[in-house]
Amino acid sequence: MKPRALITGGGRGIGAAIAMELAKAGHPIIINYLQDHTAARSVQKSIQEAGGQATLAPFDVCNPQACADAIAPLLEEDVPIGVLVNNAGIARDNPFPSISQDDWNTVIDTTLKGFYHVTHPLVMPMVRQRSGRIINITSVSGVIGNRGQTNYSAAKAGLIGATKALAKELAKRNITVNAVAPGLIDTDMISEAPVDEMLKYIPMRRLGQPAEVAALVRFLAGENAGYITGQVIGINGGLA
Ligand code: NDP
Repeated sequence: MKPRALITGGGRGIGAAIAMELAKAGHPIIINYLQDHTAARSVQKSIQEAGGQATLAPFDVCNPQACADAIAPLLEEDVPIGVLVNNAGIARDNPFPSISQDDWNTVIDTTLKGFYHVTHPLVMPMVRQRSGRIINITSVSGVIGNRGQTNYSAAKAGLIGATKALAKELAKRNITVNAVAPGLIDTDMISEAPVDEMLKYIPMRRLGQPAEVAALVRFLAGENAGYITGQVIGINGGLA
């Protein structure tokens, strides 16, 4: 049996597409989410109806105790967690003078503390298994910066730094750590963005689809990607 895959923020959008794609690749899936139980349950149902396995693990990636309490029992089960996709993320966009302390902290906490709280307990078990795949969903915004996203760009650039450092630490243990940096992807996150205006800057003149990001994550999680680590792979229609 293939190792289990934990996807944070797997209930909607890109995370939901990743959960379904990794299930198709044969991984039993653990779907983390924050509050939208209905959405997560529907992803679980789709996976199960297609013959896959999926369990729900609601917890707030910003909350260290909630993460520890949720992840400890997952580590007791027989099939190891061999794939971790740190996908949970939020945006609170504003020009920098209007970014409140709360909007700064929540965005940074979700991406960076979330990465730490979820990855930390899973790394030593992967080291003992001598295998693992850690895939961090960053953003083009963390690579080239974006107006109105100082908090988000900082968080996503920080995640790229963490990816590169951890990749070097874990390479000789046969664990790869990579970042995927999507451009504009058609999910709830961009529902209030001025999409028509933004499309002018995308050479392909279209949004990306969650399934396109999921296909890349599936490749990185698979055996054929074993020599790829510490990389930031863009998927953005030519934007950067
Ligand atoms: P969505 O807003 O559609 O979904 C976000 C998911 O993250 C939801 O499942 C949500 O849970 C979960 N989540 C949010 N906060 C927490 C938390 N504190 N703890 C646990 N889960 C949480 O986002 P997208 O699918 O668009 O984005 C997914 C990732 O891709 C994010 O990291 C985002 O920054 C990144 N990205 C997105 C782009 C885009 O254009 N859409 C572009 C580049 C990067 P719940 O459903 O319970 O609210």
